[in-house]
Amino acid sequence: MARILLNNVSKQYGKFKEFAVKDFNLDIEDQEFLVFLGPSGCGKSTTLRMIAGLEDISSGEVYIGDTLVNDIPPKDRDISMVFQNYALYPNLSVYENIAFGLRIKKVPKFEIEDAVKQAARVLEIGSFLDRKPRELSGGQRQRVALGRAIVRQPQAFLMDEPLSNLDAKLRVQMRAEIIRLHKSMGVTTIYVTHDQIEAMTMGDRIVVMNNGVIQQVDTPENIYNRPQNIFVAKFIGNQPMNLFQGTVREVDGQLRFFTSAFNLHLTDEQAEMIRNNRLENYEVVMGIRPEHMGFERELFDTYPNAVIEGFLQFNEFIGSDHYYHLDSYGKEQFTVRAHPRFRYDEGEKVKVAVDMGKALFFHRNSGELLT
Ligand code: ATP
Repeated sequence: MARILLNNVSKQYGKFKEFAVKDFNLDIEDQEFLVFLGPSGCGKSTTLRMIAGLEDISSGEVYIGDTLVNDIPPKDRDISMVFQNYALYPNLSVYENIAFGLRIKKVPKFEIEDAVKQAARVLEIGSFLDRKPRELSGGQRQRVALGRAIVRQPQAFLMDEPLSNLDAKLRVQMRAEIIRLHKSMGVTTIYVTHDQIEAMTMGDRIVVMNNGVIQQVDTPENIYNRPQNIFVAKFIGNQPMNLFQGTVREVDGQLRFFTSAFNLHLTDEQAEMIRNNRLENYEVVMGIRPEHMGFERELFDTYPNAVIEGFLQFNEFIGSDHYYHLDSYGKEQFTVRAHPRFRYDEGEKVKVAVDMGKALFFHRNSGELLT
């Protein structure tokens, strides 16, 4: 088990090419489950592969435990990788696939047998140890790949989208298995995914990346509730956060956020924050999640001066709730998540209250969260 440290790590695939990863600084704690999350091409796999030693580092330092591993080959880094495509040996049985890494290390035969059997028990693959990978389902193959990773008892697991070839149901099941495995073994794990649900449910912390640059490193709760910039706000959430561009102005001693379609009274804290940042009369971006707007009486009572009028464009029913897609005077479009007891028809005019206490404000140019 180990702490993993990245100091100013960068990667360029060609000397004059753009950075695939830029100035990465990260301190991954011993036993932590850390997730790299971001859109396709943002540099998740490249970072993981540099930690594994499968890719050269253009500049910076990678430490595993106390060891600087920049020049240490992958096989000597004491890590196990799990890939999206399983990477099993097709001609070897399940047993031999799991045992392979230990045989190379010349571990005694009886120890190998113990380790394989224990892994097979944990992963419930004991009944097909004699089969070849082609005789297994995708989920079973991925379990074999996990088995092969865990028997080596590495200092860290590096997993690159290990579940993305599985169907939705199996993914949920394997997600739980990996979490359980991590809880019981406590091995430092870095997990790459572009699936935010996976990231939110599995990670102790999430690293949100874009264009090779870290956007935020934080707990799932903070990533969701306190996104540090507009990119993270938009990237995280089943339905993205509603974002409105507008200006904060004072009317009758009260700060209000004006768009071309509506205006909303700021809370006292928000007003203070806007004043402290000297952003009165400047454009800012307000963010509010669909579940923080609603039709409940109490919300209107609490925020009587934060109400938006709009027409219902269309409605998505997701079982527990509706997503109402609304349009305010052809100028602002936004989404409200509401309980199915609120029923509106397409084209109907509705009023929505905004839970202003949950609204966030971002700098218009830098996109950074204002605090
Ligand atoms: P995905 O989710 O699609 O796997 P990712 O976030 O893992 O994406 P990377 O595979 O790390 O992204 O790629 C980061 C950037 O580096 C991309 O712009 C990609 O095109 C580039 N890149 C990756 N591998 C190479 C390579 N071998 N040669 C040149 N450029 C590469």
